[in-house]
Amino acid sequence: MPVAIDSRRVSHVPIIPALKHQFGFPALAKRYSALSLLRHALLPSSPWPRAWRSPAPKSSYDVVIIGGGGHGLATAYYLAANHGIKNVAVIERGYIGSGNVGRNTTIVRSNYMIGGNTKFFEFSLQLWEGLSHTLNFNVMLSQRGQIGLAHNPSQMDVLARKGNIMRLHGIDAELLDRGQVMKLLPYLDYSDAARFPVVGGIIQQRAGTVRHDAVAWGYARAASDLGVDIIENCEMTGFTMEQGKVTGIETTKGPIRAGKTAIAVAGHSSHVAAKAGLRLPVESHLLQAFVSEPIKPLIHHVVSFGAELFYISQSDKGGLVFGGHIDGFNNYTQRGQLPKIQTVAECAVSLIPAVSRLRLLRHWAGIMDMTPDGAPFICGTPIPNLYLDGGWCYQGFKAIPASGWTFAHTVAKGEAHELNRCFSLDRFEKGGELDDHGAGNWNYKQ
Ligand SMILES: Cc1cc2nc3c(=O)[nH]c(=O)nc-3n(C[C@H](O)[C@H](O)[C@H](O)COP(=O)(O)OP(=O)(O)OC[C@H]3O[C@@H](n4cnc5c(N)ncnc54)[C@H](O)[C@@H]3O)c2cc1C
Repeated sequence: MPVAIDSRRVSHVPIIPALKHQFGFPALAKRYSALSLLRHALLPSSPWPRAWRSPAPKSSYDVVIIGGGGHGLATAYYLAANHGIKNVAVIERGYIGSGNVGRNTTIVRSNYMIGGNTKFFEFSLQLWEGLSHTLNFNVMLSQRGQIGLAHNPSQMDVLARKGNIMRLHGIDAELLDRGQVMKLLPYLDYSDAARFPVVGGIIQQRAGTVRHDAVAWGYARAASDLGVDIIENCEMTGFTMEQGKVTGIETTKGPIRAGKTAIAVAGHSSHVAAKAGLRLPVESHLLQAFVSEPIKPLIHHVVSFGAELFYISQSDKGGLVFGGHIDGFNNYTQRGQLPKIQTVAECAVSLIPAVSRLRLLRHWAGIMDMTPDGAPFICGTPIPNLYLDGGWCYQGFKAIPASGWTFAHTVAKGEAHELNRCFSLDRFEKGGELDDHGAGNWNYKQ
């Protein structure tokens, strides 16, 4: 029998009580509002200004961030907004949104079990809840609820334990029996022939999806407005070092000096860090995403299969958006492999037989950092003036606000924030692994 979930009323315990600028607005040159929309509609001769500036790089900055994905841009924004450090450059080798921040399945949630993860991801979800106001940019947060399914009684026990841990941290979670799942998800296979019978599930109502491009554009616009230089089409090619310290970077647009340098390059962390002589415990793997042809509204939640790693939701355009495990071998191609398409399609059909009649519209892959415990690094490094935000695998999109907030704190103050203390590089020496998935030291299983 599954353990009953703790029935005490859940109230959201603010992890950081003073999210004071959550409902304030950055001083944007051009605020987006219903009135400004009307003015531009009536006066087409006054064009919208560019969302962010496109400056040439200066010769020197207080902080240079390598990588203009979600993490790099959020870090730049919080450095300026929370710490007043505005002489900052974000160096992006492609265009904003060209990396994983624009390639993911957009799921945000905070249903993690292990101490450090639980608080960190709940803080991130709280930041997501106010982000459109904070950035004056609609990031299209859709709190449609995420349902994790159980296919046997022992999985129900695990879900109950997870739910209890979440509720003890003030995070919303409700255990669902089979009848409740049938009401919410009538399209699953409940027949006697179902390969994986559904016995119940767990829902986090506040979880859901966020429009990924909008996150990159919103942070870029707000950071640029606070004075951050966003340098696109500029690749970092090496570090400049003096007496063992990082003093700047070499780029395809020339050298840039930096008081502090921060790496936020997602799937490229290991070879960027290697340029400073730092060997990271990171492997790079592909993760694929899939979108079907559009159909009428069918799936109103984010649904996660319990028998394999498989998750599915429906986009506003009607496409079913889904994904599974990483491809399982090291790769930098950003192109997915056929065997994974088959596994993911098998999961989709065994869970929702009706999708067997749909056509796959497109699929793509992103390069993911995998660490030995599946948890990230948000920390300083053994090299003075060099900081690292990396190791983001499946959880890296939902983490963007909290990662940016805590990494900015670490870069600004040279010390860990209470929420990223556990994400250090030396945790493996000290027995501080955060193995939430319970997969042990098997990167490809996480
Ligand atoms: C298919 C897929 C589905 C996913 N689904 C989810 C999900 O549903 N929920 C979730 O939480 N997470 C998800 N993730 C994970 C998440 O997207 C990533 O972990 C996260 O986006 C990584 O951080 P980022 O946004 O900063 O990365 P990126 O956007 O990749 O940013 C890193 C940037 O660094 C740049 N760069 C690299 N090297 C250099 C250099 N030398 N010089 C200058 N710039 C450089 C790159 O061009 C890139 O733009 C998914 C990932 C993939 C691939």
